Amino acid sequence: MMTSVERYYVGKEQWESILKDWLFKYHVLAPLKKAGNNHIQFITPDNYQKIIYDEARPVQPLKTFLLPSLEEVSGGFPETGKSFLLLGVKACDLSALPILDRAFGGDYADPFYQSRREKTLIVSSDCGQPWATCFCTLVGGQPYPLKGFDLNLSKVWDGFIIEVGSLKGRNLLDGYDKLLKDLVKEEELALQKMRREVLRKVDRQNHPYYLKRSLTGLLEGQWESEVWDRHASTCVECGACNFACPTCHCYYLDDVTRKEGVKLRGWDACLYSGYAVTAGGGTPRPRLVQRFRNRYYCKLQYLEKNYGQIGCTGCGRCIEGCQGRIDMRKAMHELSKSADPEHE
Ligand code: SF4
Ligand code: SF4
Repeated sequence: MMTSVERYYVGKEQWESILKDWLFKYHVLAPLKKAGNNHIQFITPDNYQKIIYDEARPVQPLKTFLLPSLEEVSGGFPETGKSFLLLGVKACDLSALPILDRAFGGDYADPFYQSRREKTLIVSSDCGQPWATCFCTLVGGQPYPLKGFDLNLSKVWDGFIIEVGSLKGRNLLDGYDKLLKDLVKEEELALQKMRREVLRKVDRQNHPYYLKRSLTGLLEGQWESEVWDRHASTCVECGACNFACPTCHCYYLDDVTRKEGVKLRGWDACLYSGYAVTAGGGTPRPRLVQRFRNRYYCKLQYLEKNYGQIGCTGCGRCIEGCQGRIDMRKAMHELSKSADPEHE
């Protein structure tokens, strides 16, 4: 068990030697720029210099790699050989992990999820430039990882401050001691300054959505609020908000009839009219506005009650991907105003 924080500074050249070594040992995935956005891709000796470390979260949520959107769950486990090393994971994706671990672990652990989780190393990194849709601070987070990583990288000057977060992380650095140096005060101060500035930036851009009520109490007495009808009115039931969300984890199972004994598991979306429909055709939420409202209650109330954590990390993907231009921050802000008439 880790007792104290272990941190080092690594220069650009030294970091690249470590990384080049890791490319032989692991399947390394990291964000690269593609069409103006950051997409997680396989890293090779040809593209490792283009990795985006210090911008905001990539398009794909972390769950994509632990819980594929469609997979066969009737056969054996996929043979991957080498472990996966996910580089540049952001705080908003890391905070979603305990929810996935809880849903697919514990007494009834899902062997497919577990085998991938055990074979995945996480090297996270601080956000340097949040997107306009990022709102981690509004939901109790911050734009840099505090826990849940094996190693964390904070870009300071030309190199990185590396923080060890687990035994797996410690093992990742074994053999590279000569490339790491102890942290000096200037590096520490530069890190604090950089984190303060990014935090302020996220806070500032979310000032218009400030919530007076605590998030967990936000939905008290809001079941009949007119906010649901107004915001759901532009929803086209595309399910993008569910699929892009790092904490959404509902799935369906499908017995493939043309191939005997094959069962598939795929991501499901609670905004779909077919979600939770029974064999006889009944549904608990026949109207779109009911499904829309349920998503907020699930994230802000039910998950908190059952898992001890709300189901939103403020990654902003649901805002960015919404075809109906629905902004969750705006809906939450309006709910907080309608709950407290004094709130401006
Ligand atoms: S609800 Fe939206 S902002 Fe919150 S974690 Fe899910 S996708 Fe991100
Ligand atoms: S992304 Fe927007 S339009 Fe699509 S289902 Fe979600 S709320 Fe509706």
